[in-house]
Amino acid sequence: MSKFADLGLKEPINKALVDLGYESPTVIQEKAIPQILSSSEDLKAFAQTGTGKTAAFSLPIVELADDKDKTSQAIILSPTRELAVQIGKNIEDFSKYLPDLKVVTVYGGANIEQQIKQLKRGAQIVVGTPGRTVDLIRRRALKLGNIKWLVLDEADEMLNMGFKDELDKVLEATPDTKQTLLFSATFPREVEAIAKNYMNNPVEVTSGQKNQGSDNVTHQYYLVSERSRYPALKRIADVNPDIYAIVFCRTRRETQEVADKLIQDGYNADSLHGDLSQAQRDSVMEKFRKKNIQMLVATDVAARGLDVDNLTHVINHKLPDQIENYNHRSGRTGRAGNKGISVVLVNRKERGKLNPIERILKKKFIETSIPTGKEICEKQLFHLIDKIEKSEVNTSEIDTYLPNIYDKLKDFSREELIQKFVSLEFNSFLSYYENAPDLNNMASNDRGERGRGRSGRMASEDMTRFFINLGRKDRLNPAKLMGLINEQGINNKVEIGAIDILDTFSFFEIDKNFESDTLDAFSANSPEFNGRRVNIEITKTERKGGGGRRRGGSGRSRRSDDNPSKGFGRTRNNKKKPFPKKENSKGRDSRRSRRR
Ligand code: AMP
Repeated sequence: MSKFADLGLKEPINKALVDLGYESPTVIQEKAIPQILSSSEDLKAFAQTGTGKTAAFSLPIVELADDKDKTSQAIILSPTRELAVQIGKNIEDFSKYLPDLKVVTVYGGANIEQQIKQLKRGAQIVVGTPGRTVDLIRRRALKLGNIKWLVLDEADEMLNMGFKDELDKVLEATPDTKQTLLFSATFPREVEAIAKNYMNNPVEVTSGQKNQGSDNVTHQYYLVSERSRYPALKRIADVNPDIYAIVFCRTRRETQEVADKLIQDGYNADSLHGDLSQAQRDSVMEKFRKKNIQMLVATDVAARGLDVDNLTHVINHKLPDQIENYNHRSGRTGRAGNKGISVVLVNRKERGKLNPIERILKKKFIETSIPTGKEICEKQLFHLIDKIEKSEVNTSEIDTYLPNIYDKLKDFSREELIQKFVSLEFNSFLSYYENAPDLNNMASNDRGERGRGRSGRMASEDMTRFFINLGRKDRLNPAKLMGLINEQGINNKVEIGAIDILDTFSFFEIDKNFESDTLDAFSANSPEFNGRRVNIEITKTERKGGGGRRRGGSGRSRRSDDNPSKGFGRTRNNKKKPFPKKENSKGRDSRRSRRR
């Protein structure tokens, strides 16, 4: 592969690239850099994040800009503040041995006067978000009359974000003689229209096949039901103890909900979306970059500009509305020569949406089973044993305690000690997953098999049917009823069967073996629900046709994944024992441990 020096860049730039550790150009760099250096033709580049596209357009500009002329010669537009800042920083790095070459980055949400001052001092290269750039043009602080290069980075995303008018304005404010460089991961009609209207016979370059994902990414899908979507996400995290992932959601609300649930369940997660202040977003991204957060739940837009190379997974909690965005998402993993996995959670109805994506990727999604409790336990156990094997022991810190410890444990054999240790770490984990349902079966239930007594589910005759004096009028729904039952601390193995919610009262089934435990628990706790004292009774009434709404697919255990109790292997930082006794305190405990 050719080295940068062969591309014709001057020495100060090559030196800066050596400092950055860039040894060989990436595919897009190899194609775009000589093209831009040698020709003033417009350029249309198919490139996703992670392909090295920033250097592909920045290096020739740094090379060719006249550093003795202080007017703005290049304007680079990017969809988000984060990406703009990243590009500005990259250009500073590339030009560190060219002291007269200045770059200014302008974006909304920051002091405009400050940016105006910086522009007045003179900058050959300006990087900006569309809105702020237009604002500065209007205020005549940014003059584009001498522009030689206009870069539209992530053009598809800028249009997705509704910046069409701003792009038009910037394009119109620049001279016709400029060279336009358009970089986009996808080329929907709107982007093609920009290319057609504002570019002259552009040369096309690609970072591989158009729109095709990285070869380093494996694409998997898990078939889920709506109820098993979140538990499946947890299991994917649990079976990958070293997971470092972005979990993509479609809306801010979905993002916040998923992140809140993960945090409450003790995972090392946080959210990133547009409802957060800029300071909050910066802080979350910094924590994620430093790997203080293992799972970042984000919207597509907010995740833009987050420059992280070593993600193990990209998880599509829901598929993006526009299939082209799948490529953007999955391109966040498998970067810089690493391997990555892009995971999609789909229900049966959504399964068909994978076909057009497969056509774009020219790759098949691999159908993957949601890990079983046993698989997770094994994975976690051996992960722990591996960690023990590799951990360094610093006896100086524990020296003083060791004689006492040795003395206390002297009567145990090596095998006994290992067994005790493993049990201590794993009994709670094993019991957590012991009765966990097969979530793959739950996905099948979406096909209308709910309530037909699939294997693994308790039969109706093994259940006791209870009457409860609450109904729809009390705002009771199946989830709330299950929460109410779970709160009574009956027994963590109890299965809840069919639930029928009626207007003023309801019915639910409980494993016969826990009939009296259930009565005792409700009577001892005297729970209230929305201000009403709760009463339950055993009912002898038969369910019509054996139907009713059966909850939990393969039968719901209070330890099932839907119960927000703890999985394990979640948090790198979460050193506390998982599965604390009280369910409500679990969330709070884990939150606290995370913040420590
Ligand atoms: P980009 O696609 O511009 O967001 O770049 C993705 C990542 O690859 C960034 O962290 C860059 O610093 C890095 N990168 C870009 N080009 C190279 C190169 N030729 N060698 C090594 N790393 C690179």
